[in-house]
Amino acid sequence: MVNLRIPGPIPVDDEILETMGSPMINHRGPEFKDLLYKTTEGLKTVFATKNDVYIITGSGTSAMEAAVVNTLSPGDKAINATVGVFGNRFGIICERYGVDVTTLSFPFGTAVDTDKLRECIEENPEVKAVMVTHNETSTGVSNDLEKIASVIKEYDKLILVDGISSVCSIPIETDAWGLDVVATASQKGWMLPPGLAFISFSEKAWEAHKNSTMPRFYLDMAEYKRYYEIGQPPFTPSVSCMFALDVALDRVKQEGLGALYERHSIIGKYTRDAIRDLGLEIFPVSEDIASNTCTAVSVPEGVDGSSLVEKMRVDHKVVLAGGQSTLSGKIFRIGHMGITPQEDIQQTINALREVLPTIGFNK
Ligand SMILES: *Cc1c(COP(=O)(O)O)cnc(C)c1O
Repeated sequence: MVNLRIPGPIPVDDEILETMGSPMINHRGPEFKDLLYKTTEGLKTVFATKNDVYIITGSGTSAMEAAVVNTLSPGDKAINATVGVFGNRFGIICERYGVDVTTLSFPFGTAVDTDKLRECIEENPEVKAVMVTHNETSTGVSNDLEKIASVIKEYDKLILVDGISSVCSIPIETDAWGLDVVATASQKGWMLPPGLAFISFSEKAWEAHKNSTMPRFYLDMAEYKRYYEIGQPPFTPSVSCMFALDVALDRVKQEGLGALYERHSIIGKYTRDAIRDLGLEIFPVSEDIASNTCTAVSVPEGVDGSSLVEKMRVDHKVVLAGGQSTLSGKIFRIGHMGITPQEDIQQTINALREVLPTIGFNK
């Protein structure tokens, strides 16, 4: 068996896969209506929100794009606080749509510095929105979203969150923290295959939507809202993924969010400790910002990062993720979101212990 240890898609168990093999139903019929309403309520519980939550058939990026095109207009000013590749993506989406975006970037491996963020907002008082990544999967860093949101809220700006690798894995409180739009995707913490994106949308986001002149069609949240009222999706959804979502949400309910968060926190720490025991270093600059869904590890001096990933896959059937963009060859990443048995991490560590000395690592 392959040990798929990338930060999404995550391994999916047989029950979920079998559910996905169920016969199709009419997405405009009564069964789907029940399924849509039930799953949406389940999603709201996980987002900790009374705001609207919509299900988009698409990857996480579609929900990031939806966050931008439904709240802003070409020429609007916004700040993108980024700590990695996915944060940068939020900025690129804005640029493509003509948003006048100020980039506030922090070095890879560090988190958003809220003093700098405050300064940036003070210097750009006319910005409408601030974009931020909750958990930056490219660097294995978790931002203190509660603190970041509290600063943004002081200035009454919209806060658009990439929660793709955090929601349903690490604690997030959409309403209590005042998050206007939160985007996430099924193949991360939700224990599901790729195919669905989920997005929450606050009252304030709806107000912004009224004034937004951005072009949009497939991702127009007004259409999702209009159709939701009659118990339908605006377009044909991934019905199979919807069946699986229903099962996954039942499981979340059964386990409880507290226990689910605790499980991620335990496996995250377990992974980091085991990595350090091997003599390797965690890429994030400090333990308190290290992600509990994805561990980024620095490739040691003298070791070729790509042959490490290659050897792990070929010789040990452990599939790791390399580094993205400028981190290519400099880090590798171990995903541990969703249900990650400790043995799977142990096997990864054992394989690393065998592979490392063969590619130039001496502890
Ligand atoms: C995976 C991921 C994305 C990209 O999601 P896709 O589903 O591939 O579009 C964006 N942001 C973060 C933080 C991610 O982990």
